[in-house]
Amino acid sequence: MNKTAQPTTGSRRQCRVCDSSDLQPAVDLGMQPWCNHFLKPEQIGTEPAYPLRVVWCADCRTAQLDFTVKKEIMFGDHTYLSGVTRSLSDHFRDVAGDVDRRFAATCGPRKSVLDIGSNDGTQLKHFRDLGYEVLGVESSKTTARIANDAGIDTLNEFFNLDVACQLNRKFDVVNAAGVFFHLEELHSVTDGIRQSLAPDGVFVVQFLYMKRIVDNLAFDQIYHEHLLYYNLRTIETLLNRHGLGLFDARVASIHGGSVIAYVGHLGRRQPSPRLQALRAAEEESSANELETYRDFAVRIEQMKEENLAFLDEAKRLGRRVYGFGAPVKGNTLLNYFGIGTRYLDCLVEKNVLRKGLYSPGQHIPVVLEHEIEMPPDIYYVLAWNFRQEILANNQHLLDRGVQFYFPVIPQDVYA
Ligand SMILES: [Zn+2]
Repeated sequence: MNKTAQPTTGSRRQCRVCDSSDLQPAVDLGMQPWCNHFLKPEQIGTEPAYPLRVVWCADCRTAQLDFTVKKEIMFGDHTYLSGVTRSLSDHFRDVAGDVDRRFAATCGPRKSVLDIGSNDGTQLKHFRDLGYEVLGVESSKTTARIANDAGIDTLNEFFNLDVACQLNRKFDVVNAAGVFFHLEELHSVTDGIRQSLAPDGVFVVQFLYMKRIVDNLAFDQIYHEHLLYYNLRTIETLLNRHGLGLFDARVASIHGGSVIAYVGHLGRRQPSPRLQALRAAEEESSANELETYRDFAVRIEQMKEENLAFLDEAKRLGRRVYGFGAPVKGNTLLNYFGIGTRYLDCLVEKNVLRKGLYSPGQHIPVVLEHEIEMPPDIYYVLAWNFRQEILANNQHLLDRGVQFYFPVIPQDVYA
């Protein structure tokens, strides 16, 4: 399907969705290391940097990166675990329950689900509890092993059309949460999904909603793994091109604003009133226009000034400041703002796989939450998307006067 023989890594001059060469610069976050590679001490300073630039396609209007880091570097062995965060696990349970309630009637006699980018199997466990036969496809070796050890059947592969053909099986539900913007082999993967989907099957795709990222100024969601930044209009262009069609969508608060979209074979189902309302709101807000992205870039600069002013003042007053969380997206923010150990003594994290490592670019040490004996004066919260969970879990620190500073505060989710 990828007829244009564009390089799969490095710089691109053509749109990832429609092949147009009319790509306009939108947001330039400079040269940045691959943000998911937390460094061992001996690796500090050896990490390569790559351009991190969002361009906008004047033809299909998809926002996207114009540079691809090789997928073997990006997804070969990442250390992100969905099961670590409770609110994420709750979200996955809700998604499985919702899908089952709505679509179980159109499933075959033995309900089945394929999860693409299944991570540690957290989503599939919820489907299994509802009686589904489950299969995961996960590119990270470590994470796939964790899922298999937990009894969730998981292939350690990059999903694409070849893998779908080898599986040679139709699923009632195909799920892809948070991977659909990663995909270097976008067209092959989308063909693979159509191939794997039963005639009345439902493809449930969750993706960061670019409109919400822009509204919330959550620019740290821009990183090398996220090759594409969809709105409804732009993901529909992609899906339609591959014989799939959106029939329903809702906005969820997860990751600071995501869309959960329901997709079937093209023309099989009518678009829901909810989808039509979201589409209309998107068009009215100019979310797909270049001007909106250029304005976003200006607002990011203002945010940088405000954040650095806050941290400079904190340092001037002799406050101790730690980063809260060591999420991948935090590195975009730290590197673009130039927030290093001058400001943050360490990043405090729950994920044991990051213990003893250093953030790429700024080289801030990661410390596990239970290792902190004395809390700082201020937590600079990189994991801002778990705001409520963080505040609720740390009431004892708030009571002691510890300040939690959120660089990004998402507005309440509408719709
Ligand atoms: Zn395009």
